[in-house]
Amino acid sequence: MLILDRDDRPLAQTASLSPPEIQPHGALLVLDAACSTVLQASENLNDFTGVTPEVAIANGPKAVLGRSTLQRLQRVIQGNGDVGGTLRVKRKVGQLSFRFQLEASLQEEGVLLEVERVGTLNQRNLLADVNAWIRRLADANHVDALLACLTQGVKQLTGYERVVVCAFDAEGHGAVVSESVDHDVRPLLGMRFPSRDFPPDVRQRFDVLPLRYVPDIQAPGVSIIAGGEAAFLDLRHAAGGLRELSVEQRQYLKRMGVESVLTMAIRGDSGVWGLLVGQAGQAHHVVPEIRDAAMGLVQMATQRLFLLKARAEARYRQRVQDSRDLLASQHAGLLTPAELLVRHGDDWLALFRASGVALVSPGVQETRGEVPSHHQLALFRERLERGHQHGGPWYTDSASEDPLTKDLELGSACGVLAVPMLTAGNIRRWLMLFRAELRQSHTWAGMPETGKLAVEPSGSSRLLERHQVWREEVRGHSEEWERVERLAAMDLAEDLAVMESAEEISHLNARLQRKSERLKEANARLLELAHRDSLTGVANRYRIEQLMEEELAAADRYGRPLSVLLLDVDHFKHINDTQGHDLGDQALVALAEELTRTLRSCDYVGRWGGEEFIVLATSSDRVAGEGLARRLRERVEALEVPGLPHGLTVSIGVASWRKGDSRKGLVQRADEAMYQAKSAGRNRVRLAT
Ligand code: GH3
Ligand code: MG
Ligand code: MG
Repeated sequence: MLILDRDDRPLAQTASLSPPEIQPHGALLVLDAACSTVLQASENLNDFTGVTPEVAIANGPKAVLGRSTLQRLQRVIQGNGDVGGTLRVKRKVGQLSFRFQLEASLQEEGVLLEVERVGTLNQRNLLADVNAWIRRLADANHVDALLACLTQGVKQLTGYERVVVCAFDAEGHGAVVSESVDHDVRPLLGMRFPSRDFPPDVRQRFDVLPLRYVPDIQAPGVSIIAGGEAAFLDLRHAAGGLRELSVEQRQYLKRMGVESVLTMAIRGDSGVWGLLVGQAGQAHHVVPEIRDAAMGLVQMATQRLFLLKARAEARYRQRVQDSRDLLASQHAGLLTPAELLVRHGDDWLALFRASGVALVSPGVQETRGEVPSHHQLALFRERLERGHQHGGPWYTDSASEDPLTKDLELGSACGVLAVPMLTAGNIRRWLMLFRAELRQSHTWAGMPETGKLAVEPSGSSRLLERHQVWREEVRGHSEEWERVERLAAMDLAEDLAVMESAEEISHLNARLQRKSERLKEANARLLELAHRDSLTGVANRYRIEQLMEEELAAADRYGRPLSVLLLDVDHFKHINDTQGHDLGDQALVALAEELTRTLRSCDYVGRWGGEEFIVLATSSDRVAGEGLARRLRERVEALEVPGLPHGLTVSIGVASWRKGDSRKGLVQRADEAMYQAKSAGRNRVRLAT
């Protein structure tokens, strides 16, 4: 119904058509490329211009157009190359006035001029009407409202009985998505027209010439007269809008009860998105100015249509982004894919209008919602691994028809979107989304096809009465996966892959950390062992020398006082000899314990060797050091060692730090003082000089 160029005849047959015809609401002139000769003219030229085709061919274009119009035309043609334009002409021929417009286009054969009368229309009223509709279009915030406004506007301007917008789907079928009709005209809203009603060449022609006007399909065609031997211009391939209907087109329209039609292309990014069609059940004329105005509304609506679509996509992308942000914000806790599914699965189902979601890798499946069985998911994953190498998504909206899925048992799922995600260890995990069946009942206009049921036209009335209508129950299909949805799924898969890697890494880190903690402990124990005297548990000589160096450095830097006490057990050999070596050991242990107990926590005690101990008294000058030594001597004297009849005594030498002291020097002075204590009778304290 919508298309005026259904032409099933082979090209060769139509190219030799001669002479060709045009519709009678305009006249045709074909000039040579230089616009100096008239090559062809339609028989009705005289009605529009006051010049007969014979005169035009004999006298040239100036006879028809006048000098100034011809010059303007030449400028347009030369200036724009292949782009035509509209020229308005007012001429007096004899007593008669002619007002017409020229639609010019450059063809291979020459310059095609289509001549049409211009009306005596009230331009101001038309402009006001158009502006009002443009304002309404600009206010429309939904696609449906926009298209409704467009069909109403075009209907009001042009006076057609029915104005529809027909949108093409991916397979090239058209569906009526918006409509404005007179009350007694059969509505077409929702009706589908098979793609063969819109052959590719017809669609392409709409890209070149977005408007096709047939005011009266019954009006007899007008022949074209050619000057000389020139071949006739094949209007089927020229962009001309005046070209006559083919027999098939006329039959097609008649079957639908359509006598007059105006079709305008709605162009998208990739060719013709859809068509706006005005129809009437009898001849209906629309002057060029109003056709231009209607075309203006279509163009305005087209722009807004794509703006609204872009906005809807942007809103969806924002939802996706919000969901990703949410994912990232909860990521601090590091979740496994299974945990993520539990937490976010329902959001994802809503976002992707899906009934089930699964994360599938070899041997591992996490799912949410309605998904195929474990076994079928595993089979599907294997097929994908073999059949889908690239990194983009694999998808179908009819799983039972796709070779990859058709013999799988996917349960209620008809639509599948699977995105590979590369995770740790180069294993591909798949994010799979499943969509349930979308049952639809399509009403088709056109030829009966298998699987479709004839439907009796119901209700009234005019238009489409005699056109057969078929109903198709659509099964086994889900909603299509839109591009934004596929991109969103890829984003989600990437997020999940990143998270999974992060989770993996944190796992490894934790293990490493636990390992290193154990290592630290072991090292600390080793260090402890390296620093302890094994018998008494106090610092060994190595450790005490280290500590002494540190304390000497602090003394040097801050002038902090330090005293070193060297203790030697009196007559220890005798204890060993009389009480046995073991008891000697116990005596040393008891002594070390007593020393440790007596000292402040900032002091250090260490075993210097044999039965000699050393004490580092930090922040202690000579006086404090001597005081400590006396206290220690007394405590040792009072110490009772079980099994030891006489107790212990110690001789103590005390040396205090002087500027420039080395460790050895300090210890040597303490040692000397200790020997003085021995010489003086033992069990006493001596200060180094
Ligand atoms: P003085 O009062 O002059 O210090 O007499 P003394 O017997 O303590 O003198 P000397 O230094 O000759 O003897 C120290 C003895 O301590 C010699 C050694 O057998 C003993 N001794 C050294 N280390 C240990 C040890 O770890 N355990 C035991 N039981 N005896 C030890
Ligand atoms: Mg000794
Ligand atoms: Mg001794």
